[in-house]
Amino acid sequence: MRKLIVAGNWKMNKTNTEAVKTVSELKELVKDVKNVEVVVGVPFTALSDVAKELKDSNVKVAAENMHWEEKGAFTGEISPLMLKDINVEYVILGHSERREYFGETNEIVNKKVKSALAHDLKPILCVGEQLEDRESGNTEKVVEDHVVGGLKDLTKEDMLNVVVAYEPVWAIGTGKTATPAQAEEVHKFIRGLIAKLYDEETANEITIQYGGSMKPANAEELISQKNIDGGLVGGASLIPEDFSKIVKSA
Ligand code: PEP
Repeated sequence: MRKLIVAGNWKMNKTNTEAVKTVSELKELVKDVKNVEVVVGVPFTALSDVAKELKDSNVKVAAENMHWEEKGAFTGEISPLMLKDINVEYVILGHSERREYFGETNEIVNKKVKSALAHDLKPILCVGEQLEDRESGNTEKVVEDHVVGGLKDLTKEDMLNVVVAYEPVWAIGTGKTATPAQAEEVHKFIRGLIAKLYDEETANEITIQYGGSMKPANAEELISQKNIDGGLVGGASLIPEDFSKIVKSA
């Protein structure tokens, strides 16, 4: 059985005070969940207090980005050592908003993925096509570039700690969800790609989440697809009741 992981991505939302209140509600709502790893990706300013609030709960904490270096002259950046020190376990990397607005290339994302693993943080590598890629028949090519580029130089052992999130960019924050069949097709493609890059065993073990307007009403059908192992949830993760419903439908 592959690990099911449902992770929230709050993006640039919630003050520290709001974040702590949100997770204090969330941890109660999901305290009996055993079959799903629950993760919240929160802004840097809230990570420390959120991690303290979630200590002894079954909810794990993710950062939404990080720099690959441990320290140095990188004004405004946050390092893996800083994240480890405050008990962060996951880090979302290569999100389409980082690729689109902050110029992150596959090469940059790959440096971050390798650094996360070297520091015992679990990367959630986001991959996915834009609408024009889909319309021009280039979905698989773009997804392959993201997967191959993001995972470059990783060993089979490294792969045990990597999560991939397939997020069609046209479905993020738009209310347009990929149909379960559309999502499953790409998830199957990604798993096949990992089998080619590594082997069947690795491909069968890796968690591949779906992200893109996932909500309580569509989560169950998406996550019940054979190759969909949970979700990366933006908007709906901001509301504890909604997020917990998604977790429980997994
Ligand atoms: C995301 O930001 O990763 C995401 C999937 O957002 P939303 O659920 O709001 O589409």
